[in-house]
Amino acid sequence: MTYTLPAGVPTQLWLGGKLVDSSSGTTFSVIDPANGKVLTEVGDATPEDGRQALGLAVAAGLEWAATPPRARGEILRRAFELVQARADNFARVITLEVGKTFTDARSEVHYGAEFLRWFSEEAVRISGRLAAAPSGNGRILVTKEPVGPVLAITPWNFPLAMATRKIGAALAAGCPTIVKPAEETPLTTLLLGQVFVDAGLPPGVLSILPTSDAPALVETLIDSPQLRKLTFTGSTGVGKLLIRQSANRLLRTSMELGGNAPFLVFDDADIDAAVEGALAAKMRNGGEACTAANRFHVAREVAEEFTDRLTSRMAALQTGHGLDKQTDLGPLVTEKQRTQVDALVRDAIERGARVRTGGSIPEGPGTFYPATVLDQVAAGSRLLQEEIFGPVAAVCVFDTEEDAIAAANDTPYGLAAYFYTRDIDRATRVASALKTGMIGVNRGVISDAAAPFGGVKESGFGREGSVEGIEEYLDTKYIAL
Ligand code: NAD
Repeated sequence: MTYTLPAGVPTQLWLGGKLVDSSSGTTFSVIDPANGKVLTEVGDATPEDGRQALGLAVAAGLEWAATPPRARGEILRRAFELVQARADNFARVITLEVGKTFTDARSEVHYGAEFLRWFSEEAVRISGRLAAAPSGNGRILVTKEPVGPVLAITPWNFPLAMATRKIGAALAAGCPTIVKPAEETPLTTLLLGQVFVDAGLPPGVLSILPTSDAPALVETLIDSPQLRKLTFTGSTGVGKLLIRQSANRLLRTSMELGGNAPFLVFDDADIDAAVEGALAAKMRNGGEACTAANRFHVAREVAEEFTDRLTSRMAALQTGHGLDKQTDLGPLVTEKQRTQVDALVRDAIERGARVRTGGSIPEGPGTFYPATVLDQVAAGSRLLQEEIFGPVAAVCVFDTEEDAIAAANDTPYGLAAYFYTRDIDRATRVASALKTGMIGVNRGVISDAAAPFGGVKESGFGREGSVEGIEEYLDTKYIAL
């Protein structure tokens, strides 16, 4: 097996639909985390490149906003078809730069493409309303207008889907967009740039700027009065920083931030289904997902059975290069990420957690970490409070429904939660008591382009996908008639 990039992956910046070198002429390396080898060098965008991209976005913006919604939708539809047609190419690039398995990468391509199809259909459904003023002396016309140039900042864990979820909605709404992909994974997003050129997107409307110095580029763009919207997916810490920076200009922001999803298994759960759901909720993307189940709270009556079965499934997962057919679990994205995951595991063990499988960094090249199950995890352990972002399942036991809900909600985060029960009354009660933006009931995977994705509390605000997603890129205007 050769672990090389397919031909034709762009490595320069997309400036308004044209591939160009960085204004500084410099590049930075993209690494395959499975073996530490350099995949390629990509152009390193500077603040000057950012200013140029914004200038092009402003110049193209009015015409794009005035382009008939049907025409905008048709470009997005063509982009959807092109991503689907190039799915294997995309999946290979995703596997090489993120480390996830080819199967996970294919699922991401399918999921990511769906946002383009979804928003191709939403572009023609933007509407306002007309009402009679209660006083009878006029009419109230409410219209929706594109907010203007958008900066989209994306994380490394879903380099295609996090980009299409933002670009699809922004372009459907009529907004020109600049994407700043994560420095670990710029190649997938650069490949997506070619799709939009081939789909007929007019020049200037979309730029893609990888950089090794995100703060400098992003600050320049946020400080510019021409930028009208910031949409960010990433960690809560960086999200807070960007909100503070955006406050100076009262920039509109959407924040899809970190999570700490609880996964509850009640004593009346279907344990077969709960184990399957747990594997999906924990191991999709190797645990590197903001919606990943972070902590398993299991009813005492079923805890042993559930943990034994989860352990034997996790212990059977084979680590290896994501492109190898037998691999179930690829490497973590960087050494930094692996060190953080291991520190959380060490902390839990020091506080008394029992290692059921995995639990330590293996020898050899690549940033691998084994599928790990810990039980008897003590309250106060860091991995119950912090996002693990790796293949580690922490199991705790509860005695009552009230205790389970209290434990689930005991976090500053509020992105996703999962629970398993066969009792419909309990399902209704628990779903309404959990303080998260998304809930899976007897399901371990919840993401869907047609569903509103987003969190509450320190998991952020704003929604992506669904009918709510396009609203993030529209201003409301009231016209008195
Ligand atoms: P990160 O916050 O480190 O980086 C995210 C993006 O922000 C990257 O593009 C990065 O280059 C950029 N960035 C970092 N520091 C910056 C700064 N000072 N100024 C401007 N830009 C900056 O997060 P990550 O490690 O790439 O991704 C993992 C995090 O993302 C996790 O916390 C995860 O939960 C979260 N995430 C959330 C969702 C969601 O939808 N809620 C989805 C995926 C990932």
